[in-house]
Order: sequence, then structure tokens, then C-alpha cells
Amino acid sequence: MSYNESEVKAFLQNYERTAQVVWNKFMEATWNYVTNITKKNRGEMLHEDMERSQHILFFGTQARLFNIATFQDPVIKRMLRKMQNMGKAALPVKELQEYNQLLAYMETMYSMAQVCLEEGPCLYLEPDLQEVMANSRDQKELLWAWQGWRDAVGRPLRTFFERYVQLSNKAANLNGYKDMGALWRSKYDSENETNTLQHDLELLFQELQPLYLNLHAYVRRALHRRYGPQFIDLKGPIPAHLLGDMWAQSWVNILDLVLPFPEKPLEDITKIMKGQRWKPHKMFQEAEKFFTSLGLLPTPMEFWSKSMLEKPADGREVMCHASAWDFYNGHDFRIKRCTEVTIEDLLSVFHQMGHIQYFLQYKDLSVIFREGANPAFEEAVGSAITLSASSHKYLLNIGLLSLQFQDSKDEVNFLMGIALEKIAFIPFGYLVDLYRWKVFDGTIHKNIYNQEWWSLRLKYQGLCPPVPRSEEDFDPGAKYHISASIPYLRYFLSVVLQFQLHEALCRASGHVGPLHHCNIYNSKMAGKLLEDALKLGSSKPWPEVLKMMTGESQVSTKALMTYFKPLMNWLVTENVRQGEVLGWPEFSCSFEEKEKNTFLGLELDSDQAKTGQWVLLVLSFVMFLLVLMLGRRLYILSTAQDTKAYFLGMAMEPHKAAKGQWILLGLCVLLLVCSISLAIKIFTQQSKKPLWMTAEWWGLN
Ligand SMILES: [Zn+2]
Repeated sequence: MSYNESEVKAFLQNYERTAQVVWNKFMEATWNYVTNITKKNRGEMLHEDMERSQHILFFGTQARLFNIATFQDPVIKRMLRKMQNMGKAALPVKELQEYNQLLAYMETMYSMAQVCLEEGPCLYLEPDLQEVMANSRDQKELLWAWQGWRDAVGRPLRTFFERYVQLSNKAANLNGYKDMGALWRSKYDSENETNTLQHDLELLFQELQPLYLNLHAYVRRALHRRYGPQFIDLKGPIPAHLLGDMWAQSWVNILDLVLPFPEKPLEDITKIMKGQRWKPHKMFQEAEKFFTSLGLLPTPMEFWSKSMLEKPADGREVMCHASAWDFYNGHDFRIKRCTEVTIEDLLSVFHQMGHIQYFLQYKDLSVIFREGANPAFEEAVGSAITLSASSHKYLLNIGLLSLQFQDSKDEVNFLMGIALEKIAFIPFGYLVDLYRWKVFDGTIHKNIYNQEWWSLRLKYQGLCPPVPRSEEDFDPGAKYHISASIPYLRYFLSVVLQFQLHEALCRASGHVGPLHHCNIYNSKMAGKLLEDALKLGSSKPWPEVLKMMTGESQVSTKALMTYFKPLMNWLVTENVRQGEVLGWPEFSCSFEEKEKNTFLGLELDSDQAKTGQWVLLVLSFVMFLLVLMLGRRLYILSTAQDTKAYFLGMAMEPHKAAKGQWILLGLCVLLLVCSISLAIKIFTQQSKKPLWMTAEWWGLN
């Protein structure tokens, strides 16, 4: 079949009109569920999810019939290509239903998990356990929260995750990708270019590694000072529970332990905010003011009336993990988060308002292009603004600080705070998807899920678990983006990209002086540069958008290096002075032997054991036939009058042959009984329905 371009345009218009309605309904139903977790709301969400998938499937299947190469218009080509990737909608209905339930279950399980005190209340992750991790300096208490969270949410998710991997890969295959990791990476492909993504990422990481190693060594010594040599080896990895965060991905909460110049303590902004009676609403207004000062768009009224800016106090169960929402109708945009009045949350609010600004800017594009130039852009926009908002100048201006910087000691102290968030995050941001790519492509087998997670945590972050882990545990599942199936590469790239964007915006605003002093507040020039890029959504290949903004078409670490230069100079000198050994060569973490299934006393993995059991089943059938045959032979022997009989092909006296056959018969019956009992075992194991397909798995509420 061949189509002309005007036929394709009509097809696309039809898609556009219907997609807006279907996606809007899906977003609404999902919102209702995550802000009020009930069975009814879950049912409605799953229903709308299926409707959306049917829509994607219907139009995607047609889009695959067009021969894209015959079209001229690059926009049409790009749209069709995007439509041809149908994601999970490509799965057969039964499996799609199972997949959706599984995804909903894993995320809900994560959001509702609690860790209970021996006598007393149970604690949620947000805000309770996070507060313990951030503020406690008691090793035992930290370990309790760290381990409790992993017992509560990691372990139970393990079997679900295995099935999730299977179904994800099947969906990826149906879209022409070899596994789900490849499908995720395809979001970063620039058309007509050979894909060197993984290689480029490794190079970026290598460039940044010296910064991390210096920070790691410096922080390790400070923790050694605080917790002593029984917990910290000055040449080894750091125990993962002492860094002020549940995943040791941001270390900013232990700034007080590692401040380079403790004689010049930083002002406690959280305390100042509380003293000034800040409320979550005001935090969002302050972020909004920043964006409008750049000449960017204000958020519509609906945002303020429909968002969930605080954890509701009316007893509703909600998913607290912060997120920004586009409802695909051009006027409804919302944020969901359980905001606490702290400086960390204020800066994170700026980040999320960056997502909202992106939505606002591309709202008039086709729904197909209503996403960032690539996922890392979506994350980097708000974070680039956050770099201005965390500058000393901005915080002075809005009255959250009162003292001017006096000397380079103030500067180093300030940069340490930023580094504990951004530089500490680099290896974690990188390894989360390195791990999942290997899981999806089968390099990491399900028998060693946890062991391999920790070998990456050691290799890249230089961390060890504070207590031995085993394959009963599933520590990756204790991270939101893994149990909620959200790709993570975006956050790694965004760390680099946000400095690149920040530098470009600062240049446009006419800033002179060190990059970490720059605050683009009020700069219409910077705002215009940002606006022009955001308006494009994903309608252009991302290197073009990057080029437009920064003059470069590749992600580069240069701006990040410039920003942290004063801190790095200080850190390197300090580490040399202390004679630090960078890294953790020659160290490994203790890990319990992996659990093995036994079969006839042999150690096997569960697949092999299952095969063994099937072989036995077949054997038992053969035995059964043999028993019948031998029985018949014995009967004939006992009734026959011959002087000769045969046993195993040899001629002999009948009573000797009969004796031989009785022994054989006994053996066969014994084996038959063994085989049948094993066969029964197989079938009782196999007939168990997957847990998430049965009714009781939603007994959560
Ligand atoms: Zn974000």
C-alpha cells in the first residue's frame, strides 16, 4: 500500500484529537489513585490504562503500515517513527493486564511500606525514615532504618521483579528491540547517527570520577573521625548507612560532619524558613516567581487548586514520591508531593516547577512531541534553575540568608554543600541503569540480583552494605525508580547537562565572575533562550536543541568542572596533605553465599532443578511401562511348561529367570514410587497462580 502525505495528515489529525481525550482520562484516573489509594480507584486506573493501550495499539499498528522513507516532510516522519514504538501496548491483552497489575502492585507496595518500632508506631519512608537517615548520628538507629526499609520493601518485591523483567523484555521484543534496556536507551538516539551512547556515557563517567574519588576520600576521613575505626577503614569502602540518605545518593545531610571550615558554620536555612513560618504553598509561589521573573509562563489557576502540595491529613493513603503531571488538555498541570519545610525541599520544588514550565511551553505541540528533547532535558531544566536558586546571592535576596560571603573559606564551605548533592550522586545515577540494562539483557541472572547490585555499588560508589546481604534480599527494589519502573539514566545525564545549561543561561544573562555566583533571576535574555528551547518539546533531535542553547551539540563536563574548580583545588590539596589513598583498591564487601536449590543432593539453580524434576517425571512413566511388561512376563513364566526361559536375552532355567525378573520388578516399583512422588511435587508447585494475579494480593487496604 502506498499513501500520499495528505492522507497521512488526516490520519495524524484523527490521532491527535482522540489521543488528547484518552490520555487525559488516563492521567485523571491515575492521579485519583495515587492521591487516594483505594481498590475502586485502582480499578478505574487499570481500566483507563487498558483504554490508552488499545488506542496506542490501534494507531501504532496503522503507523507501522506506512513506508516512512517515501515521505518528504521531516515532521511527519518523526511523528510516525515515534508512533511506531508502542511500548507495553504491544503486549497481548492477557499479558498486558498482568503487566499493568504488576507495575501498580510494585509501586503501591513501595509507597505503602512501613517499618515498625518494637513497641510503638510504624514509620513511612516519607517523611519519617528519611528524617532518621538525614538527622540521626547514632549508628545503631541508622542501621535499624536502613535494614528495616530493605526488609519491608526490597525482599517482598523480588519475585514480582523477576516476572516484571520477563514481561518487559517481551514488550521490547514486540517493538523490535532486543530487550527493555535497549528500548529505554533508544530515547537518546539521535537519528541517522551510529549509536555510541554506552561508550559516551562511560567516557563522561571517567571524566567525572576524579571528583568523586576525592570527595569520597575526604568524607571517609570525616566519618572515621565521627564513628571510629571499627566502622570506617581509611582505605576501604564506606558503610552505606552513614551518609545521611537511604540510598547514599545524596550526602548533603551530613554537611555538618564534613564542613571544610567548621569555624565558619553555614547559616541553617531550614531553621530560618521555619522561623519565618514558611508553608509548602509559599515555597511553590517563590519558585513560580523565579520563572515569571525570567519572562516565562505563570502556572494556571488549576495548578493551585488541583495539585497535592502536602501530605493530606485526612487519613487518605497517598504515594508521596514527588512528581509533576501534564494532563494533555493545555490547561491542567499539577504537582504531587509531600512537601516538608526544608531548604532541600525548597530547591526540589524549583526542580519540579521546571517540569511544569516545560509542560506549559510545549502545550501547543502535537501530543506526540509533548515531552523533553530527551528525558535528561526534562530533568536538567528545573535543576539548572535550582543552581541559580541555591546561589548565595539569590538566598540573600529572598531573606533566607543574612551574611555576605567574606572570603574563600565561605566559598569552599558553600561549594561543599552543592558537591555533596551533585558529585556524590554521579556514580549512583550511573549505576542504577547499568544494573537494569544487565538484568534486562540477561548478563545478570536472577540468582545473583542482589550480589550484582552490591558489586556495582562497590565498584562505582565505594560502598558496602552495613550488614551482610543475601539472595533472600532484593536491595535494588528498595529504590523507588526500580520498583516503579522508571528509567534512571536521565538523572545521571542531567547532573552534567544542568551545569551546561546553567553556564549558557548565565552567559545570556551577562553574568561575569565565578560560575557558582551566578543567579539569573530577572534576566529576560536567559528566559528567552530557555523558552525557545522548551517550546520545541521533542520535535527536534536533542543535539540540535542543545546546540541552540549552548553552541555545543554534545553533553560536556566542562561547565561542571568550572563550577566546582575552587572546591576541587581545595579538596585535592587537603587529600594530599592527609596522605589519602583515593578509592578502595583491594577491598570487597562481605556477601552471604547465594541460596541454592537442591535436587537429589546436588546444588542447582531453580531452572536446572525444575528440568531435573521433569526428567524424573518422564522416567516414572517409562518405569510404569516396564513394571507392566515385567509383570506380564512373570505371569507367563509361572504358567509356562518350558524347560528354558530368557532373561535379558540369555537362555536359562525358568526359576533363575523368574528370580532375576522379580529383582528387576522390585527395583522398578521402587523407582516408580520415587518418580511419582516427585511428579506430584512438581505439579503442586507449578499450579500455584502468580501471586499478583490472585484476589488476595490487594488485601493491602
Ligand atoms: Zn524531575
